[in-house]
Order: sequence, then structure tokens, then C-alpha cells
Amino acid sequence: MKALLLSKNPEFNAQVGEVDEALLPEGNVTVKVTHSTLNFKDGLAITNRSPVVRQWPMVAGIDGSGEVIASSHPDWKPGDAFILNGWGVGETHWGCLAEQARLKGEWLIRRPTALSAWQAMAFGTAGYTAMLCVMALQDQGVTPDQGEILVTGASGGVGSVALALLAKLGFKVVAASGKPESRAYLEKLGASEVLDRATLAQAGKPLQKERWAGVVDAVGSHTLANALAQTRYGGAVAACGLAQGMDLPTTVMPFILRGVKLIGVDSVMAPVASRQKAWDRLAREFDLALLEPMTQTIGLDQAIEKAQALMAGHIQGRVVVKL
Ligand code: NDP
Repeated sequence: MKALLLSKNPEFNAQVGEVDEALLPEGNVTVKVTHSTLNFKDGLAITNRSPVVRQWPMVAGIDGSGEVIASSHPDWKPGDAFILNGWGVGETHWGCLAEQARLKGEWLIRRPTALSAWQAMAFGTAGYTAMLCVMALQDQGVTPDQGEILVTGASGGVGSVALALLAKLGFKVVAASGKPESRAYLEKLGASEVLDRATLAQAGKPLQKERWAGVVDAVGSHTLANALAQTRYGGAVAACGLAQGMDLPTTVMPFILRGVKLIGVDSVMAPVASRQKAWDRLAREFDLALLEPMTQTIGLDQAIEKAQALMAGHIQGRVVVKL
């Protein structure tokens, strides 16, 4: 099978080539991957920018979609359409930037019938995480009548899907972005205003003018600290990313004086019920026509070069890899 293989002996190497299917890891479901994607974490792994991969050699790819070829798991049979996100795939278990993968049946989600494999991967882990963030805000009682929502890292994968989703749900959404050239794109997805991300990137006061009823943050660091300091009384912030940094230089002030809630969002080990709910909601509630302008489709041979572009901050929206 063709795969993107990451190796270390001892120098790091990323290469697209033929890998013997007999070497696929243990698992009870073998799948044909028709589509995978490049997420931020794939970018980190493929460029060796941070220790995402914990077993070598590793087939990259934290998510994938396609159909089951063989299964000894009671819930899955040949021909079933699946989606896979996370569970350490592409980190400790061979991943989906490959024509085949061997996975565990308990990791797989049924692909909603409304979504093609391409559409599922146009969302990918980034889009599914964006939905988890929106669900987290809604669980905290955030509603459109309470005021504006801030989405940071807005032109990226998580940001683009979160923005379009929240706008479709009737929220007034402000997009923070470092790409002035993405303004028209962000407005098309539903941004009511585009903020220069530089306004959030430096250390700010512990409490600032209250503006946001809710925040979806893919960026971390000072951006998240400023977002917390600007969140309105009782508002909620869903934090899922670290594109600016993994630090969080904040104070307790937003929490103890304004009752602001900071909700952590993880997609990798999220329970299956939350995953299925997130995917079903993406299929039902997202304007699927927006996936086209949001997504570029590449072949596996272009994945290494695109991963470098992703890490350099040069990609708008999502990248689907067609196997
Ligand atoms: P992308 O690379 O697609 O988007 C990240 C965006 O962040 C960029 O497009 C850019 O948007 C912004 N950004 C980049 N560098 C900086 C910086 N130095 N300061 C401020 N903003 C910056 O990544 P994804 O959308 O796939 O992922 C976003 C984050 O979410 C990542 O940190 C990723 O690891 C995390 N993530 C976490 C998950 C979880 O389970 N918790 C799951 C999926 C993703 P712009 O140019 O518009 O400002």
C-alpha cells in the first residue's frame, strides 16, 4: 500500500512510498482509507516540529474515512462507511495517510449517510473539534441573544468550521485572524467582523472591557488570556488549541469576578457518544455548500509539502488528502 511513513534512524525522515500491508498493526477492523486530511497535529508530526509520534516507524494521519474491508468486530462488516478521529492513531498506532489501515472497531464512528467520505474529511478532526467546542458553549447555556462570539485562529481548520457553524446557528461571530487576505473568505463563512489577531496576541490587563458571550479558541497563550479578560459576566470559553503557544498567562480575575467558565475540549479521547453526536450534528446543521470554498484536495504525494505550508501558517481552511 502507498503510505506516508515517518521514521527515525536516528535522523527523522518523512517519505511517501510503498509499505507492506503485512506490517499493519494489530486491530479487529481493516479499512480502505479513501480520504484523510492534514490537521495541525499532522503538520507537527510530518515536519517533526513537536513530539507527536511516540513509536517509530509511524504511518502518519490522525483521521480518515472510507470503508471496511474486513472485520472481526461485531459492529462492523465489509462495506460499512466509517470515520476515524484520534485515539492515538498517527501517534502510537499506524495512521490514515495510507491506502489501508488496521484499527479497533470501538474507535470507529458510522459516517452519517448525508456525508460523503470527502465531506467527512473536509470537516476532519478540525471540524469535529469545532463542533465539540460549539457543543461545550451550548452546554454552558450560551445562546445567540447573549451577545457576540469570538473565534480565534479563524482562517484555520477549527476556526473556519466553528465560524460557519456558529453563524448558521444564529450567533453573531467575530473572527480573529492574522491573514488580511482572508477577510472575504471569513465574511463568506459568516463573520460579522474580522479582528486583526495582533490585537489579542500580547499580554493585556487581567480584566478588560466585557465583549464576548462565548469564545472558541484554537490559539492559547496571550490570545486566550485576553479572550478570557474580555468575556462577559457568566460567559464561557472553549479552549482546544495552541497555535500561538501552550502557555496560558492569565489571572483568576475573569473567573472569580465575572464567573467566566473555561472549558477544555479534547477530541482524541472523547467518548464515542459525544463523537457520534458531533458528527450527526455536523451532517445536519452545517451548510455543506461551504465545504467546497473551505477545502483544497491534494494527493498523498503533495502531503509533505502541504504540511510544511500548514506549519508556516500559509493554509486557509482545510486540506483533504485523497488516497
Ligand atoms: P490550522 O493550522 O488549520 O489553523 C491554525 C490557525 O491558527 C492558523 O490558520 C492561524 O489562523 C492561527 N495561528 C497560527 N499561528 C498563530 C500564532 N502564532 N498566533 C495566533 N494565531 C495563530 O490548525 P487547526 O485549525 O487544525 O488546529 C488549530 C489548533 O487546534 C491547533 O493548535 C491544534 O493542535 C488544535 N486542535 C486541538 C484538538 C483537540 O482535540 N483539542 C483537535 C484539533 C485541533 P489566522 O491566520 O486566521 O490567525
